[in-house]
Amino acid sequence: MKISDLEKLKNEGAENLPSEERRSFLKFGLSVTGVFLGGSVLSLTSARNVQGAIGAMPQAKKFPYSPHYSMVMRQNRCVDCERCKEACAKTNHVPSYGYRTTILEMERESGPNTTERIFMPVLCNHCNRPPCVRVCPTKATFKDEKTGIVMMDYKKCIGCKTCMAACPYNARYFKEENRAVDKCNFCIDTRLSKGETQTACAAACPADVRVFGDLADPASRVYQLVHAPEKVVWVLRPETGALPNVFYMND
Ligand code: SF4
Ligand code: SF4
Repeated sequence: MKISDLEKLKNEGAENLPSEERRSFLKFGLSVTGVFLGGSVLSLTSARNVQGAIGAMPQAKKFPYSPHYSMVMRQNRCVDCERCKEACAKTNHVPSYGYRTTILEMERESGPNTTERIFMPVLCNHCNRPPCVRVCPTKATFKDEKTGIVMMDYKKCIGCKTCMAACPYNARYFKEENRAVDKCNFCIDTRLSKGETQTACAAACPADVRVFGDLADPASRVYQLVHAPEKVVWVLRPETGALPNVFYMND
């Protein structure tokens, strides 16, 4: 499917889910209400049932990019050790005041009088329809035509921060050293271009939370996880229509 076709699609709301799926979504969705990411409440829904129904969930041989890089977060495995964040900062020279990836923490009820902590790793979603790219006045941020990675050309960035305001995921920060906005680029310059097949965060995770790979390849782990028939897969804030390429599941 081409990006121009994707752009014509609209996200459907949870009310369009089959009733059983909607019940489990609402149960889970309500349990995480109150999680804030830069002031925005995260909403969850089933990517397969909402986006799959309208064709936005890429199918084999119908992907816009080749390779179509994406990440699956097996969220329930995260133990908040932050090794991913440390590896990312070291590999990509991320200053202490910024982040390209981080871990959000939330509490939810696990019984009548008990709560449990849940950790949610987040990073740039490398959206198929990225608001940041749409608003950049100088084309300093762009979607790589081959891989779909949303990249930065620091030389073109004039520091207006419009992209930071437009990103629904708070995935960008202003890097003083570069006098430009910085964000995750799936380690394309620091690792992938040097023959590595994993991002720094995925390689460093001791719990195998972060699975990185080519969503266009049915033999890849990301493809198999996203398309596992028995699993619920969701994306963050689907209502924005940004069509994220980072998927979440409990596995
Ligand atoms: S998550 Fe934000 S920075 Fe990343 S592509 Fe989407 S809108 Fe752009
Ligand atoms: S390295 Fe893995 S387990 Fe540790 S905080 Fe990051 S995602 Fe979670």
